[in-house]
Amino acid sequence: MGFNIYYYESNVDCKFCKKHFTTYKVRPNRYKIIEEHTDFMPVYEGLNPLLYEVAVCPHCGYAYHKSMTRTYGPFMLLINELYIKELQKPVNICQERTIDDAIVSYKLAYLVSKSSMEEPLLMANLALKIAWLYRLKNDPEAEMRYLQSAREFYSKSFATNQEGEERIQFLNAELSLRLGDIKDAKKGFSRLISDRSVSNKYRKLARNRWENYKYDENPINITETIN
Ligand SMILES: [Zn+2]
Repeated sequence: MGFNIYYYESNVDCKFCKKHFTTYKVRPNRYKIIEEHTDFMPVYEGLNPLLYEVAVCPHCGYAYHKSMTRTYGPFMLLINELYIKELQKPVNICQERTIDDAIVSYKLAYLVSKSSMEEPLLMANLALKIAWLYRLKNDPEAEMRYLQSAREFYSKSFATNQEGEERIQFLNAELSLRLGDIKDAKKGFSRLISDRSVSNKYRKLARNRWENYKYDENPINITETIN
């Protein structure tokens, strides 16, 4: 392509078939985060870089997200058996993407990661991003399905540092709230709020989220609190 003011072409050597291709990425000055949902979904002004995070090889169909780690040697044999051989014709979604294209790209990355038995935390993060894309598409049913998968994977996840561990606990509670499992959400938020070893950041996030939820459910309380 010639010069494009919205995207640049990222050069990729496919980790599976080793062939070369280019795929669009949003130029950094073409988007800005203006807010964040309570499950950390960033809301962008301008273009949405989330749509371009997964590179899908147009030659063999291998899909790659930068968080993936099992991308070599014996894992490639698994990916070949369980993913590549099952693929129909590889799609070409290397240029401008719709939300549906982005959903396809993430689902392929999800299948590749499942084949190579990536860690639950990585699977959880991919599932959460698929849920976000369905939220953007206004498809709450599919969104809930993937929030559910994300929650299952988060509940099996471990992080190597405290920040990561607190994020997992928070998201567990947050996704429970969104899925209507109030008992589990309350348990999760209470634990974060009352545990003195939890960082201020997550204690505060948990307290605010739980209080906002309670006042939304009982609007009368809002005026009581304000006055
Ligand atoms: Zn390839």
